[in-house]
Amino acid sequence: MAEKQLYDLVILGGGPAGATAALYGVRAGLSVVILEKMMVGGEITSTDRLDNFPAFPEGVSGAEFGMLLQQQLENLKVPVHTVEIEQVSLSGDIKTVSTSAGEFEGKTVLIATGTEPNLLGAEGEQELVGRGVSYCATCDAAFFKDKEVAVVGGGDAALEEAIFLDRFASKIYLIHRRDKLRGVKGLQDKVLSLPGVEVLWNTTVSKIEGDNKVRALQLKQDGEDRYLEIDGVFIYAGRTASAPFLAGQDIETTGNGFIITNEKMETSLAGVYAAGDIRQKFLRQVITAASDGAVAAIAAAQALFS
Ligand code: NAP
Repeated sequence: MAEKQLYDLVILGGGPAGATAALYGVRAGLSVVILEKMMVGGEITSTDRLDNFPAFPEGVSGAEFGMLLQQQLENLKVPVHTVEIEQVSLSGDIKTVSTSAGEFEGKTVLIATGTEPNLLGAEGEQELVGRGVSYCATCDAAFFKDKEVAVVGGGDAALEEAIFLDRFASKIYLIHRRDKLRGVKGLQDKVLSLPGVEVLWNTTVSKIEGDNKVRALQLKQDGEDRYLEIDGVFIYAGRTASAPFLAGQDIETTGNGFIITNEKMETSLAGVYAAGDIRQKFLRQVITAASDGAVAAIAAAQALFS
Protein backbone atom coordinates (compact mmCIF):
# COMPACT_ATOMS: atom_id res chain seq x y z
CA MET A 1 0.00 0.00 0.00
CA ALA A 2 2.14 2.86 -1.28
CA GLU A 3 1.80 6.22 0.41
CA LYS A 4 1.98 9.23 -1.90
CA GLN A 5 1.82 11.83 0.83
CA LEU A 6 4.91 13.99 1.25
CA TYR A 7 5.71 13.85 4.96
CA ASP A 8 7.66 16.47 6.85
CA LEU A 9 9.55 13.71 8.67
CA VAL A 10 9.86 10.05 7.69
CA ILE A 11 11.13 8.07 10.67
CA LEU A 12 12.99 4.84 10.03
CA GLY A 13 12.64 2.65 13.13
CA GLY A 14 10.00 2.63 15.86
CA GLY A 15 12.20 2.06 18.91
CA PRO A 16 12.52 4.62 21.71
CA ALA A 17 14.45 7.01 19.43
CA GLY A 18 12.02 6.88 16.50
CA ALA A 19 8.89 6.85 18.65
CA THR A 20 10.04 9.82 20.71
CA ALA A 21 10.90 11.72 17.54
CA ALA A 22 7.33 11.10 16.35
CA LEU A 23 5.85 12.38 19.64
CA TYR A 24 7.96 15.52 19.54
CA GLY A 25 7.49 15.95 15.80
CA VAL A 26 3.69 15.83 15.96
CA ARG A 27 3.64 18.25 18.85
CA ALA A 28 5.88 20.59 16.85
CA GLY A 29 3.41 20.53 13.96
CA LEU A 30 5.18 18.06 11.65
CA SER A 31 3.43 15.40 9.60
CA VAL A 32 5.31 12.21 10.49
CA VAL A 33 5.28 8.53 9.64
CA ILE A 34 7.12 5.65 11.30
CA LEU A 35 8.44 2.75 9.24
CA GLU A 36 9.25 -0.18 11.53
CA LYS A 37 10.07 -3.77 10.60
CA MET A 38 8.87 -5.45 13.80
CA MET A 39 6.94 -3.61 16.47
CA VAL A 40 6.91 -0.28 18.25
CA GLY A 41 9.53 -0.35 21.00
CA GLY A 42 12.05 -2.21 18.85
CA GLU A 43 14.84 -4.05 20.61
CA ILE A 44 13.66 -3.09 24.08
CA THR A 45 10.51 -5.20 23.70
CA SER A 46 12.68 -8.33 23.91
CA THR A 47 14.33 -7.16 27.14
CA ASP A 48 13.06 -8.73 30.31
CA ARG A 49 13.08 -5.60 32.47
CA LEU A 50 13.91 -1.96 32.04
CA ASP A 51 15.10 -0.90 35.47
CA ASN A 52 16.80 2.41 34.80
CA PHE A 53 14.14 4.51 33.08
CA PRO A 54 12.92 7.44 35.20
CA ALA A 55 9.44 7.33 36.72
CA PHE A 56 9.18 3.52 36.76
CA PRO A 57 10.17 2.90 40.40
CA GLU A 58 9.56 -0.85 40.12
CA GLY A 59 10.98 -1.08 36.60
CA VAL A 60 8.86 -2.13 33.65
CA SER A 61 8.97 -5.12 31.31
CA GLY A 62 10.30 -4.42 27.83
CA ALA A 63 7.03 -5.70 26.35
CA GLU A 64 4.94 -3.35 28.49
CA PHE A 65 7.21 -0.42 27.68
CA GLY A 66 6.69 -1.11 23.97
CA MET A 67 2.90 -1.31 24.43
CA LEU A 68 2.81 1.98 26.33
CA LEU A 69 4.85 3.62 23.60
CA GLN A 70 2.50 2.26 20.95
CA GLN A 71 -0.51 3.53 22.88
CA GLN A 72 1.04 6.97 23.09
CA LEU A 73 1.63 7.00 19.31
CA GLU A 74 -1.95 5.86 18.71
CA ASN A 75 -3.26 8.64 20.94
CA LEU A 76 -1.43 11.12 18.70
CA LYS A 77 -2.58 9.29 15.54
CA VAL A 78 0.97 8.69 14.34
CA PRO A 79 0.87 6.32 11.35
CA VAL A 80 3.11 3.29 11.88
CA HIS A 81 3.77 0.96 8.93
CA THR A 82 5.25 -2.49 9.47
CA VAL A 83 7.60 -2.73 6.51
CA GLU A 84 11.09 -3.75 5.49
CA ILE A 85 13.17 -0.77 4.35
CA GLU A 86 14.79 -1.74 1.07
CA GLN A 87 16.43 1.36 -0.35
CA VAL A 88 16.72 5.04 0.35
CA SER A 89 17.56 8.08 -1.68
CA LEU A 90 18.59 10.81 0.72
CA SER A 91 20.55 13.40 -1.20
CA GLY A 92 17.81 15.57 -2.79
CA ASP A 93 15.33 17.98 -1.24
CA ILE A 94 12.71 15.23 -1.33
CA LYS A 95 13.95 12.02 0.26
CA THR A 96 12.57 8.69 -0.90
CA VAL A 97 12.33 5.51 1.14
CA SER A 98 11.47 2.34 -0.77
CA THR A 99 9.95 -0.39 1.36
CA SER A 100 8.26 -3.76 1.06
CA ALA A 101 4.99 -1.79 1.03
CA GLY A 102 5.88 0.90 -1.48
CA GLU A 103 7.55 4.28 -1.44
CA PHE A 104 7.43 6.96 1.23
CA GLU A 105 8.58 10.53 0.63
CA GLY A 106 9.78 13.04 3.16
CA LYS A 107 11.24 16.51 3.36
CA THR A 108 13.42 15.15 6.14
CA VAL A 109 14.33 11.63 7.27
CA LEU A 110 15.37 10.30 10.66
CA ILE A 111 17.41 7.09 10.75
CA ALA A 112 16.74 5.29 14.02
CA THR A 113 17.00 1.63 13.08
CA GLY A 114 19.29 0.67 15.96
CA THR A 115 21.74 -2.19 15.96
CA GLU A 116 21.83 -5.94 15.47
CA PRO A 117 23.87 -8.58 17.28
CA ASN A 118 27.35 -9.46 16.07
CA LEU A 119 28.07 -13.07 15.29
CA LEU A 120 30.78 -14.61 17.41
CA GLY A 121 32.36 -16.13 14.33
CA ALA A 122 32.86 -19.57 15.91
CA GLU A 123 32.67 -22.69 13.75
CA GLY A 124 29.18 -24.21 13.89
CA GLU A 125 27.52 -20.98 15.09
CA GLN A 126 25.43 -20.17 12.03
CA GLU A 127 24.36 -23.77 11.41
CA LEU A 128 22.99 -24.06 14.96
CA VAL A 129 21.10 -20.77 15.22
CA GLY A 130 17.67 -21.61 16.62
CA ARG A 131 18.91 -25.06 17.68
CA GLY A 132 20.62 -23.97 20.83
CA VAL A 133 22.49 -20.91 19.55
CA SER A 134 20.56 -17.77 20.51
CA TYR A 135 21.13 -14.03 20.63
CA CYS A 136 18.13 -13.35 22.90
CA ALA A 137 17.85 -15.00 26.30
CA THR A 138 14.65 -13.13 27.05
CA CYS A 139 13.08 -14.78 24.00
CA ASP A 140 14.51 -18.29 24.40
CA ALA A 141 15.41 -18.86 28.08
CA ALA A 142 12.25 -20.85 28.80
CA PHE A 143 13.48 -23.61 26.46
CA PHE A 144 16.44 -24.18 28.76
CA LYS A 145 14.67 -24.88 32.06
CA ASP A 146 16.96 -27.01 34.27
CA LYS A 147 19.56 -27.22 31.49
CA GLU A 148 23.18 -26.12 31.37
CA VAL A 149 23.94 -23.15 29.12
CA ALA A 150 26.75 -20.78 28.24
CA VAL A 151 26.62 -17.01 27.83
CA VAL A 152 29.43 -15.48 25.77
CA GLY A 153 30.54 -11.89 26.34
CA GLY A 154 31.33 -9.54 29.18
CA GLY A 155 29.26 -6.45 28.37
CA ASP A 156 25.97 -5.22 29.85
CA ALA A 157 23.90 -7.42 27.56
CA ALA A 158 25.74 -10.63 28.51
CA LEU A 159 25.50 -9.84 32.22
CA GLU A 160 21.85 -8.82 32.10
CA GLU A 161 20.89 -11.91 30.14
CA ALA A 162 22.92 -14.23 32.39
CA ILE A 163 20.92 -12.84 35.32
CA PHE A 164 17.68 -13.51 33.45
CA LEU A 165 18.76 -17.05 32.46
CA ASP A 166 19.51 -17.85 36.09
CA ARG A 167 15.75 -18.14 36.66
CA PHE A 168 15.58 -21.04 34.22
CA ALA A 169 18.89 -22.82 33.64
CA SER A 170 20.44 -25.10 36.26
CA LYS A 171 23.94 -23.82 35.44
CA ILE A 172 25.32 -20.90 33.46
CA TYR A 173 28.90 -20.65 32.25
CA LEU A 174 29.71 -17.01 31.54
CA ILE A 175 32.50 -17.17 28.97
CA HIS A 176 34.61 -14.05 28.63
CA ARG A 177 37.74 -13.54 26.58
CA ARG A 178 39.48 -11.35 29.17
CA ASP A 179 39.96 -11.33 32.94
CA LYS A 180 37.81 -8.25 33.47
CA LEU A 181 34.15 -7.71 32.64
CA ARG A 182 33.08 -4.70 30.58
CA GLY A 183 29.53 -4.28 31.93
CA VAL A 184 28.54 -1.83 34.67
CA LYS A 185 29.53 -2.63 38.25
CA GLY A 186 25.97 -3.20 39.47
CA LEU A 187 25.42 -5.96 36.90
CA GLN A 188 28.87 -7.42 37.56
CA ASP A 189 28.18 -7.65 41.30
CA LYS A 190 24.82 -9.30 40.71
CA VAL A 191 26.16 -11.88 38.24
CA LEU A 192 29.15 -12.74 40.39
CA SER A 193 26.87 -13.28 43.40
CA LEU A 194 24.70 -15.89 41.67
CA PRO A 195 25.61 -19.42 42.76
CA GLY A 196 24.37 -20.82 39.45
CA VAL A 197 26.84 -18.73 37.42
CA GLU A 198 30.46 -19.77 36.87
CA VAL A 199 32.71 -17.34 34.99
CA LEU A 200 35.26 -18.84 32.63
CA TRP A 201 37.86 -16.07 32.35
CA ASN A 202 40.34 -15.71 29.48
CA THR A 203 38.27 -18.11 27.44
CA THR A 204 37.22 -18.10 23.80
CA VAL A 205 34.88 -20.38 21.87
CA SER A 206 36.57 -22.16 18.95
CA LYS A 207 33.67 -24.37 17.92
CA ILE A 208 30.01 -24.95 18.75
CA GLU A 209 29.27 -28.66 18.39
CA GLY A 210 25.97 -30.39 17.70
CA ASP A 211 23.97 -32.01 14.94
CA ASN A 212 20.35 -31.06 15.34
CA LYS A 213 21.01 -29.17 18.54
CA VAL A 214 23.91 -27.74 20.49
CA ARG A 215 25.77 -30.37 22.52
CA ALA A 216 29.11 -28.87 23.49
CA LEU A 217 31.65 -26.10 23.08
CA GLN A 218 35.30 -26.40 22.20
CA LEU A 219 37.06 -23.71 24.18
CA LYS A 220 40.50 -22.21 24.62
CA GLN A 221 40.89 -21.36 28.28
CA ASP A 222 44.17 -19.68 29.25
CA GLY A 223 45.59 -21.11 26.05
CA GLU A 224 44.53 -24.69 26.89
CA ASP A 225 41.86 -26.69 25.05
CA ARG A 226 38.70 -27.40 27.03
CA TYR A 227 35.55 -29.30 26.10
CA LEU A 228 32.32 -28.17 27.73
CA GLU A 229 29.04 -30.05 27.39
CA ILE A 230 26.10 -27.67 27.34
CA ASP A 231 22.56 -27.47 25.93
CA GLY A 232 22.56 -23.90 24.67
CA VAL A 233 24.74 -20.90 24.06
CA PHE A 234 23.68 -17.26 24.21
CA ILE A 235 25.96 -14.88 22.34
CA TYR A 236 26.48 -11.21 23.27
CA ALA A 237 29.56 -10.16 21.33
CA GLY A 238 28.52 -6.56 20.84
CA ARG A 239 26.31 -5.04 18.19
CA THR A 240 26.63 -3.44 14.75
CA ALA A 241 24.70 -0.58 13.18
CA SER A 242 21.60 -1.89 11.45
CA ALA A 243 21.11 0.00 8.20
CA PRO A 244 21.95 -2.13 5.14
CA PHE A 245 19.74 0.22 3.10
CA LEU A 246 22.38 2.95 3.51
CA ALA A 247 24.80 1.18 1.16
CA GLY A 248 25.78 3.64 -1.56
CA GLN A 249 24.53 6.69 0.35
CA ASP A 250 27.15 9.33 0.98
CA ILE A 251 26.53 9.61 4.71
CA GLU A 252 29.39 9.91 7.15
CA THR A 253 29.81 6.90 9.45
CA THR A 254 32.51 5.45 11.65
CA GLY A 255 34.52 2.53 10.30
CA ASN A 256 31.98 0.12 11.78
CA GLY A 257 28.90 1.84 10.37
CA PHE A 258 27.67 4.03 13.24
CA ILE A 259 26.30 7.31 11.89
CA ILE A 260 28.13 10.47 12.85
CA THR A 261 25.91 13.37 13.90
CA ASN A 262 26.32 16.74 15.51
CA GLU A 263 24.54 17.88 18.66
CA LYS A 264 21.30 18.45 16.70
CA MET A 265 21.40 14.85 15.36
CA GLU A 266 22.15 16.21 11.89
CA THR A 267 24.14 13.84 9.71
CA SER A 268 26.48 14.81 6.89
CA LEU A 269 23.45 14.84 4.53
CA ALA A 270 21.15 17.88 4.61
CA GLY A 271 17.73 17.03 6.01
CA VAL A 272 18.85 13.61 7.29
CA TYR A 273 19.04 12.96 11.02
CA ALA A 274 20.12 9.94 13.07
CA ALA A 275 19.11 9.02 16.61
CA GLY A 276 19.53 6.21 19.10
CA ASP A 277 21.91 3.27 19.08
CA ILE A 278 22.76 3.62 15.38
CA ARG A 279 24.47 6.91 16.11
CA GLN A 280 28.11 7.17 17.13
CA LYS A 281 27.69 8.05 20.81
CA PHE A 282 28.97 7.60 24.33
CA LEU A 283 26.02 5.91 26.04
CA ARG A 284 23.54 3.51 24.39
CA GLN A 285 20.49 3.44 26.63
CA VAL A 286 16.73 3.79 26.17
CA ILE A 287 16.83 7.19 27.82
CA THR A 288 19.58 8.50 25.54
CA ALA A 289 17.82 7.08 22.48
CA ALA A 290 14.62 8.90 23.48
CA SER A 291 16.61 12.05 24.08
CA ASP A 292 18.22 11.83 20.63
CA GLY A 293 14.79 11.38 19.06
CA ALA A 294 13.43 14.49 20.76
CA VAL A 295 16.41 16.57 19.66
CA ALA A 296 16.21 15.29 16.07
CA ALA A 297 12.49 16.08 15.73
CA ILE A 298 12.86 19.59 17.08
CA ALA A 299 15.92 20.19 14.88
CA ALA A 300 13.94 18.99 11.84
CA ALA A 301 10.99 21.24 12.75
CA GLN A 302 13.29 24.20 13.16
CA ALA A 303 14.94 23.52 9.80
CA LEU A 304 11.56 23.18 8.03
CA PHE A 305 9.71 26.06 9.63
CA SER A 306 12.37 28.73 9.99
P1 NAP B 1 29.42 -4.47 24.35
O1 NAP B 1 29.28 -3.55 25.49
O2 NAP B 1 30.16 -4.04 23.14
O3 NAP B 1 30.07 -5.82 24.89
C1 NAP B 1 30.39 -6.86 24.02
C2 NAP B 1 31.14 -7.93 24.80
O4 NAP B 1 31.41 -9.00 23.90
C3 NAP B 1 32.47 -7.44 25.36
O5 NAP B 1 32.66 -7.93 26.66
C4 NAP B 1 33.49 -8.02 24.39
O6 NAP B 1 34.70 -8.37 25.00
C5 NAP B 1 32.81 -9.29 23.92
N1 NAP B 1 33.18 -9.67 22.56
C6 NAP B 1 33.12 -8.92 21.44
N2 NAP B 1 33.52 -9.63 20.37
C7 NAP B 1 33.85 -10.84 20.83
C8 NAP B 1 34.38 -12.01 20.22
N3 NAP B 1 34.57 -12.08 18.90
N4 NAP B 1 34.63 -13.08 21.00
C9 NAP B 1 34.41 -13.02 22.34
N5 NAP B 1 33.91 -11.95 22.98
C10 NAP B 1 33.64 -10.87 22.24
O7 NAP B 1 27.99 -4.95 23.79
P2 NAP B 1 26.59 -5.19 24.54
O8 NAP B 1 26.77 -5.83 25.86
O9 NAP B 1 25.72 -5.84 23.51
O10 NAP B 1 26.05 -3.72 24.76
C11 NAP B 1 25.88 -2.85 23.64
C12 NAP B 1 25.50 -1.46 24.14
O11 NAP B 1 24.20 -1.48 24.74
C13 NAP B 1 26.45 -0.96 25.21
O12 NAP B 1 26.59 0.43 25.03
C14 NAP B 1 25.73 -1.25 26.51
O13 NAP B 1 26.08 -0.40 27.56
C15 NAP B 1 24.26 -1.09 26.08
N6 NAP B 1 23.40 -1.95 26.92
C16 NAP B 1 22.98 -1.46 28.11
C17 NAP B 1 22.20 -2.25 28.93
C18 NAP B 1 21.74 -1.70 30.25
O14 NAP B 1 22.06 -0.57 30.58
N7 NAP B 1 21.01 -2.41 31.05
C19 NAP B 1 21.86 -3.55 28.57
C20 NAP B 1 22.34 -4.03 27.35
C21 NAP B 1 23.12 -3.23 26.55
P3 NAP B 1 35.72 -7.24 25.55
O15 NAP B 1 35.12 -6.75 26.83
O16 NAP B 1 36.99 -7.99 25.73
O17 NAP B 1 35.79 -6.20 24.49
